[in-house]
Amino acid sequence: MAVLEVLQYPDPRLKQVSALVTAFDAELQFFLADLEVTMRAGPGSVGIAAPQVNRFLRIAIVDVSSKPNIPQHGCLRLINPEIVQRTGEVKGREGCMSVPDYTGSVIRAQTVRVRAQDVSGQWHEYDCQGYEARALQHEIDHLDGLLFLDRVVSPRHDLFRRNR
Ligand SMILES: [Zn+2]
Repeated sequence: MAVLEVLQYPDPRLKQVSALVTAFDAELQFFLADLEVTMRAGPGSVGIAAPQVNRFLRIAIVDVSSKPNIPQHGCLRLINPEIVQRTGEVKGREGCMSVPDYTGSVIRAQTVRVRAQDVSGQWHEYDCQGYEARALQHEIDHLDGLLFLDRVVSPRHDLFRRNR
């Protein structure tokens, strides 16, 4: 397994729309393992999407289990994820491995129902809320070439430089 290089804003490749996964093979399994290792190498990371490591396929991993006492599903490995239902709106702070110098406050749905395939191609549905729902929406945005920076309403009030 290998920690992959993460593309950094303003790399134009981060704006690319990713393609559907059609091959559920050993290569996909190896790639998912590398993607997860890369996510865990980032301090405090709760998700990663394939285009962040220069692979333009609809694959994302979300794992918010490091945050105490919140509803969550453990490590979600999502192939071809789609949000099929959303309710509510809530503003919250986000960071991103591809935008290391900033965090930003972004409005997201409070709950989402996500439909996705697993590594063997089986479809599943997950009802997510709160922080996990936020992380999911953030990662699925990456598959459509969107960063949280694109959703910040007021850069002056909602963008924060990280102290590093
Ligand atoms: Zn991100």
